[in-house]
Amino acid sequence: MLSVNAYAATSPTEPLTPATIDRRDLGPHDVLIEIKYCGICHSDLHFVRGEWDEQNVHYPVVPGHEIAGIVAEVGTEVTRHAVRDRVGVGCMVDSCGECANCRKGEEQYCLEGNTLTYGSVDNEGDVTQGGYSTHIVVTEDFVLKIPEGIELDVAAPLLCAGITTYSPLRHWGAGPGKKVAVVGLGGLGHMAVKLAHALGAEVTVLSQSLKKREDGLRLGADHYYATGDPATFEALAGSFDLIVNTVSAKIDLDAYLSLLALDGTLVNVGAPAEPLSLSVFSLIMGRRSFAGSLIGGIRETQEMLDFCAERHLGADIEVIPADKINDAYDRVLASDVRYRFVIDTSTLT
Ligand code: NAP
Ligand code: ZN
Repeated sequence: MLSVNAYAATSPTEPLTPATIDRRDLGPHDVLIEIKYCGICHSDLHFVRGEWDEQNVHYPVVPGHEIAGIVAEVGTEVTRHAVRDRVGVGCMVDSCGECANCRKGEEQYCLEGNTLTYGSVDNEGDVTQGGYSTHIVVTEDFVLKIPEGIELDVAAPLLCAGITTYSPLRHWGAGPGKKVAVVGLGGLGHMAVKLAHALGAEVTVLSQSLKKREDGLRLGADHYYATGDPATFEALAGSFDLIVNTVSAKIDLDAYLSLLALDGTLVNVGAPAEPLSLSVFSLIMGRRSFAGSLIGGIRETQEMLDFCAERHLGADIEVIPADKINDAYDRVLASDVRYRFVIDTSTLT
């Protein structure tokens, strides 16, 4: 057992504080990773604050599922990774491997329920703890390779924000000739803009205001509109083939559905705790679809990392020491993130 430094939430309301946690001994298929950077995802906030399912949060919880680091040690039967490899871990650390969805490489939809990087009960009955820590032990099949061509700090957010936007963009065919809108320019949103642009789509940002317009255009958007202005909804009615909604709060779905062209899809990746409602007429009029999407499978995550490395595409980040995690949480809640906070884990002392 390895005892490592971490940052943990002890209740839904207290600030996160320094903690020490144990990492299991290496099994034959395990990889010990020295974590260099870990991104802060809005899901970490929803989770530690008990917004999704307070009864089932086992405190203390060490969040973090955008992990980038270096392999420090490998189990006796590990073949996919070697000591000193640059690697990443995203939202999952295990799945059944046998159900229909796992066999398709869609482990995020494992029918037995996959093991999340933090807050899940693993095969040994222990609650998993995430990447706001200096080391983690993960079974080799859930460890991704971070190719040369992306630095570890800007690669970390790809492990959640990157794959969560890449997967629906690919699934719904974002590419040349397609008009894609991204709602919310935060961690996921800014990656959605970069990726949709790299895939060749015409990209529009729909942000609450025009404050981040220059950034949006620099990230690859062709157009930028403020959703706080009702004229936006008139100007863009019936325009988009695909809308990716990354907003962490409740939005007026009917207003956004009205922006879809015939056969268009609004896919929700934002995961607010409150239920969203819509009028079925928003779907009927225009054969529109409303869909959801959860991260992406391991194979697709590797594909996304390779795609980003070839294009030298990483996240726009603000690197912070561990003692600024609580400030960063406040800024995420205030939509004051440009565009992902990343913890330098060498500061976890
Ligand atoms: P984030 O960095 O906080 O970005 C969310 C953005 O949404 C904000 O920057 C803001 O953009 C907009 N926004 C926030 N509050 C709003 C409000 N009340 N009304 C309208 N717009 C608002 O969060 P994130 O890390 O990208 O995560 C976004 C959501 O995706 C979270 O709910 C998270 O849990 C979820 N998520 C889902 C998956 C999945 O697999 N489906 C994976 C990861 C995260 P503007 O300032 O531009 O308006
Ligand atoms: Zn996330």
